[in-house]
Amino acid sequence: MRRSTDELAKMRKAGKVVAEMHEKTRAAIRPGITTAELDQIAHDVIDRRGATSNFLGYHGFPAVICTSPNDMIVHGIPGRYVLEEGDIISIDCGAIVEGYHGDAAYTAPVGTISAEAARLIQVTDDSLEAAIKEMVDGNRLSDIGHAVQSVAEAAGYSVVREYVGHAIGTAMHEEPQVPNYGDPGKGPKLRTGHVFAVEPMVNAGGPETRALKDNWSVVTADGSLSAHFEHTIAITDNGPEVFTRA
Ligand code: MG
Ligand code: MG
Repeated sequence: MRRSTDELAKMRKAGKVVAEMHEKTRAAIRPGITTAELDQIAHDVIDRRGATSNFLGYHGFPAVICTSPNDMIVHGIPGRYVLEEGDIISIDCGAIVEGYHGDAAYTAPVGTISAEAARLIQVTDDSLEAAIKEMVDGNRLSDIGHAVQSVAEAAGYSVVREYVGHAIGTAMHEEPQVPNYGDPGKGPKLRTGHVFAVEPMVNAGGPETRALKDNWSVVTADGSLSAHFEHTIAITDNGPEVFTRA
């Protein structure tokens, strides 16, 4: 769906709240903090900005962020897990302002991490940036996923298939889905006013996933590390505009 200037202005506001959730949680990440404490920090931002959470209560999800350490890909539930030196932690945040949604994620190091883990984080971030460059009027939807897959696989990594990005607006998850793989030049044309949450999930090993017994947490089937980056991005006449960037 193509959003009006007015709608884009509201999504820009929601994006700013999500960017602040990133900024505040990122600043707090250190060995010894629990994922529940990170959730509280993000919750405080939502409250202070008069926003509401699109995660809390989503199919019963109990928190305002997802916290997914190490081999966990996405959808981890904040709780008693204590971050350890050498972990990587993926934080996914969302917020609603005036009925419009923002959604974005990042993976951060906890203290000093291995060179391999640092490279995985960097490549996943790079794959998102490559995808964003494709988000111009006239390109095709699959150009986004093709860019992600090209960067990730060139580095020797794999992209998750079962979980994908999405259009976003008055709901967090709107159609169409935005896979992180595929051939270029396929699918609907990208047009000014389209807004997508693009979210590469990149595994150091194979692409296969496994859901844990809590029915939320998704981990890599082979136990390899996984990283996740996401932004909410609009296609404008001046190129891509990233709403969730600080
Ligand atoms: Mg997200
Ligand atoms: Mg998303």
